[in-house]
Amino acid sequence: MQAGMVIIGAGECGGRAALTLRDLSFDGPVTLIGDEPHLPYERPPLSKEAMTGDAPAIKAIVSDELLAERSIKHIHSVQAVAIDRAAHSVRLSDGSTMPYDKLLLATGSTPRRLPMQGLGPRCVYLRTFNDALAIRAHLKAGNRTAIIGGGFIGLELAAAARRLGASVTVIEAQPRILMRGVPAEIAGIIHQAHEAEGVKILTGQAIAAIADDGTDVRITLAGGGDIVADLAVIGIGAVPVTALAAEGGLTIDNGIAVDAELRTSDPDIFAAGDCCSFPLAVYGGRRVRLEAWRNAQEQGALAARNMLGAGEAHAAVPWFWSDQYGLTLQISGLSDEGRSTVRRDLDDGAFILFHLAQDGRLVAASGIGRGNAVARDIRLAEMLIARRAKPAPEALGSQTVKLKSLLAA
Ligand code: FAD
Ligand code: NAP
Repeated sequence: MQAGMVIIGAGECGGRAALTLRDLSFDGPVTLIGDEPHLPYERPPLSKEAMTGDAPAIKAIVSDELLAERSIKHIHSVQAVAIDRAAHSVRLSDGSTMPYDKLLLATGSTPRRLPMQGLGPRCVYLRTFNDALAIRAHLKAGNRTAIIGGGFIGLELAAAARRLGASVTVIEAQPRILMRGVPAEIAGIIHQAHEAEGVKILTGQAIAAIADDGTDVRITLAGGGDIVADLAVIGIGAVPVTALAAEGGLTIDNGIAVDAELRTSDPDIFAAGDCCSFPLAVYGGRRVRLEAWRNAQEQGALAARNMLGAGEAHAAVPWFWSDQYGLTLQISGLSDEGRSTVRRDLDDGAFILFHLAQDGRLVAASGIGRGNAVARDIRLAEMLIARRAKPAPEALGSQTVKLKSLLAA
């Protein structure tokens, strides 16, 4: 009997992969195994709308009805604990065994933990819907919220907390917020927006100790001084979930290592989304791991195609966004590949930075503005990046030259 396709991790990537297998008319068994109690759901709202809306609700990727209609078996609240590659089966935490023909690991990433022990119940992380519910219950007028880490989780949450009237202090170890991947000029705009909204941002501040006395959380800074809060949210990065793959003997290299077709070191096992590192063709095969929503979607779909034998290489350009107050930041490509920058100003204070490599190739574009102000031009820049275009810097910087015309050239 056909064992079919088994997907471990019922998140963005796993959910999309299961649906794509059916879109491609695969008619064998498709099993989606997740350790959370929910339907596959979107995580981006967790630091945004789920915090500020009246009643936080899950934004499901797929409904129970659609799972049933498409004969996708979703096993929830169960963890995959071991892979027996010789037997082509996975052992689950409920004691059962699941055979597979092809396996997809879409295990995602998990918050990096602060090294201190015994942080207490007022020191929390944000990854899941249940985490979001717990944080949401604290965020109200008068609440003192300390946020450790001036990255995306910390800053999006700071914006939501201010909207709800909580006072917010962000503590960032680096000399500035959003140090990795976001140019200083854009991070500076976001910093100013937070300060204008009353957020206190402390940069270059390491944490010496955290104590929870049952009422308050006291955060002692290495440089001196204490921050006292009702709640401390820790957003200091994410690490890929690789233990299952590693114990199964698969190669790990900053995530589960896959080739351009998302195949691991075992030809019948694929990995995709936040958990994997892969060669990025548009940057000469540089191995990267992306923690971004669109990448999880695209790789889930690509893994499904390749599980069915498409033999298709990953070719997408990285892209992500962040919403804070009315501002939207969008970055396409890898800005650290750039050696020089050209700025293009758009209407209402929005702007885009084009990042050019030594040889003049466009390698990334970073934009910020209100609402959708930069969306169209970032999309066009992404197409130029994919084509490995070398547009003239004067044309990129000129408001009168349409980016579309550069694509035509
Ligand atoms: P995940 O969504 O993490 O799903 C993996 C699932 O696998 C999880 O449910 C996990 O519990 C489960 N799992 C792991 N191991 C096992 C096992 N052994 N057995 C069973 N189940 C297992 N990206 C953007 O581009 N823009 C945004 O604005 C944005 N906002 C975000 C806000 C928040 C609060 C968070 C947390 C992330 C945000 N992201 C954003 C990132 C984006 O959500 C992730 O890149 C995306 O969810 C990755 O999808 P994934 O399926 O690879 O992993
Ligand atoms: P992040 O964006 O990597 O930011 C973490 C920040 O915390 C970094 O600046 C980091 O500095 C800093 N930091 C590390 N250790 C610290 C310490 N001990 N004290 C103070 N600061 C410290 O990660 P994140 O914000 O935690 O987000 C986690 C995950 O959610 C990621 O996968 C992210 O992509 C995802 N997410 C994405 C979005 C989005 O794309 N809009 C929104 C929310 C969440 P170093 O660089 O030195 O480590």
